[in-house]
Amino acid sequence: MSEVTRPKSRQQKFLEEHPDCYFCGGANPASTVDHVPPRACFPDEYVPENFESPACKACNEGTTKQDLIFGIYSMLLDFDESKMMREENQKKIRKLMQGIANNYPEAWPDMTSVRPVNRMGSIITPVPVAVEFSTPSALKDASEVMCRKLTHALYYRETGKILTSKHQFLSSAYQPQRGGTQDLTAYLTSLLPNRTVGRRTNIKKYGDRFQYDSGYKELEDFFFYAAQFGHSIIVWGMVCGPGIERPSSGPLSSATWQSGACGAGAG
Ligand SMILES: [Zn+2]
Repeated sequence: MSEVTRPKSRQQKFLEEHPDCYFCGGANPASTVDHVPPRACFPDEYVPENFESPACKACNEGTTKQDLIFGIYSMLLDFDESKMMREENQKKIRKLMQGIANNYPEAWPDMTSVRPVNRMGSIITPVPVAVEFSTPSALKDASEVMCRKLTHALYYRETGKILTSKHQFLSSAYQPQRGGTQDLTAYLTSLLPNRTVGRRTNIKKYGDRFQYDSGYKELEDFFFYAAQFGHSIIVWGMVCGPGIERPSSGPLSSATWQSGACGAGAG
């Protein structure tokens, strides 16, 4: 019998080049491809290219719920007129809302608490530029998970190394239109030298959908980033390598640091 050699799929090739799971520190071999940022944050044809991470099944499937919940809020809060009325955005929002209604009704946005935000940076605007509403606990949980995922995925993307349990990291998310966050946004962007903008080569008017600023000091194994989902949510974080001391004074000393390799597959 003759042996038939099938051409390798794109995923097989990717997993051969990236054999370890990005999220559990390589505790398990990667057998799937995880999209970070998740596909739920974008219209179906608009998932940015080259944001795949190698993941084990447990780590990948362990965040399905949080991906969906974070995705719907990141799209709902994206008050960018150039894309919010576009059919592909509306279609994806309807699909995600259906998924929330069917599977996670506790995460349904509380529309009775919506308040307009009349502020763009330090300028008070005559018409609202965004809204804010009370955050359901399901969104808090989803945001925390997204902070952990994005920190692991961007560290791997930028350094080519897997975050281990000996690394410490800190990560947080906020809505930049909310009052009191302007200083933090200016601070983050002033510190970070390298900008990466998500796009798709086959789409001309892709819009401003995902980008991040980052910096890495190889000697100290210190990584710092701030990522923005359209005009809706900013996620930022920093990673300290095994050899370096965490800040002992200032606001970061009292922050909640976590150990790396905390994906579901780590057990
Ligand atoms: Zn894993």
